[in-house]
Amino acid sequence: MNAKGELHPARQSEGREPRTDPLTGLGDRFALESALVEVQKAEGGLPAALLLLDLDGFKALKKSVGHAAADQVLMTVAMRLRETAGENDVVTRLGGDEFAVLLRATPLARATAAGNRILAALEPEIDLGTESVQCRASVGLRMVEPHHSPSEVLLEADMAMEESKAEGRNKVKNFDPATLLARQLQRQIVGDLAHAIDSDQLVLYYQPIVELATGRLQGSEALVRWNHPEHGLIMPDRFIPIAESSGLIAKLGRWVLRTSVAQLAVWRQDPETAQHDFTMRINVSAPDLQSLEFVDDVREALSGAGLPPESLVLELTESAIIQNNELDRYTLMSLHRLGVGLEIDDFGTGYSSMGYLRKLPVDHVKVDREFVRDLGKDDTQLTFLAAIQQVIRSCGLDGIWEGIETAEQAEALRSIGCTSGQGYYFGRPVPGPEFTENLKRQQTWPA
Ligand code: C2E
Ligand code: CA
Ligand code: CA
Repeated sequence: MNAKGELHPARQSEGREPRTDPLTGLGDRFALESALVEVQKAEGGLPAALLLLDLDGFKALKKSVGHAAADQVLMTVAMRLRETAGENDVVTRLGGDEFAVLLRATPLARATAAGNRILAALEPEIDLGTESVQCRASVGLRMVEPHHSPSEVLLEADMAMEESKAEGRNKVKNFDPATLLARQLQRQIVGDLAHAIDSDQLVLYYQPIVELATGRLQGSEALVRWNHPEHGLIMPDRFIPIAESSGLIAKLGRWVLRTSVAQLAVWRQDPETAQHDFTMRINVSAPDLQSLEFVDDVREALSGAGLPPESLVLELTESAIIQNNELDRYTLMSLHRLGVGLEIDDFGTGYSSMGYLRKLPVDHVKVDREFVRDLGKDDTQLTFLAAIQQVIRSCGLDGIWEGIETAEQAEALRSIGCTSGQGYYFGRPVPGPEFTENLKRQQTWPA
């Protein structure tokens, strides 16, 4: 409606009359849409901001307290919103547990502050007679642009609200076009990735793992990259999480397994590169442990390439290894019985309890690079690393220190009895052919 109380012509012609929500007495979605149109037209209406709220966990709450009590929660939320909003602001209920507040003549900073005031107003528990509940919300914020259609504003506020949920809820999140672009790219990536695995766009890079005392090569870690025809080389941090959440990881993991094992077989067979105790390390995702075929895949890959099981080490993160799941435990034990090496990757970043080190069927521990990075910051860090190394050793495990970038770091680790290391100082991950050349040329690492 405009200042005179007339409906905007576009709204009228669509026949979507603003109505009042019978439960809360607030305006409905159409009331919001006409207010949005009006604010764009009105003198001094802009800047204006739309705050879109979605109550966190409302479905579960409704299930536990029942319909009537849930309605009472919605009414209380409506009341608190109205109390918090200024008299020029338009408070509406869009349906279900979704509310919107349109703030007129409000710049971004003040809109953010208003969003936070709303979150604070929702904080106190709501008394339902027999029990009291707490109701929090995720808030998306979108500044209204002059040429924005109401549905665009709503959609983008909704995207911001989804971001707020994704970031842990109970916060105000401003719409960010970059995030939108990232999401679109992500959707595209899922489609492309399925195709990439079949069309040779994935590449393995290999990084040396070195004996600290002598510089002798012990093996390599295979790290996957995606040679995207449009976007160029994409690093794994950008597509592994997508592969994991989309279910593509099983296929990708199988490709990594086969390709790395085939490469290892080539290196072992060629007298110029052969080294009998060279091990290949590959990264295994948590979902792989839940697949019954995984153990068979590993067994077949090794026997197909004529390689002994101990020439392969599977790197698993702490969280993947510790999931208290029968199937995971079964898979781990089967892999252990098969004779492949098992390694905890990124050690020290997940579960800080060290007790499990003695209980799991693992042989190696790769200490996360954040520990090495902090070396030299203060004198106690080296003492701390020595203690970690001591624990690893006393559990009968083999420790590998990753992220070694300087000679000083390598020397410091050597001085406290660390035996194996990996990092840019010894060599960056390189494609197979380049690694082969280094194998032929290089006796000790770094060159
Ligand atoms: P990660 O397993 O911890 O691998 C080590 C990462 O550290 C690699 O990054 C490597 O390039 C990087 N790095 C090595 N030395 C240094 C150093 O001295 N300094 C610094 N700052 N970084 C170093 P990358 O290749 O980008 O891989 C990132 C992560 O992606 C890996 O972390 C691993 O979790 C995952 N990933 C890589 N390849 C695969 C794969 O084939 N399958 C699965 N499931 N995950 C993979
Ligand atoms: Ca790794
Ligand atoms: Ca790691």
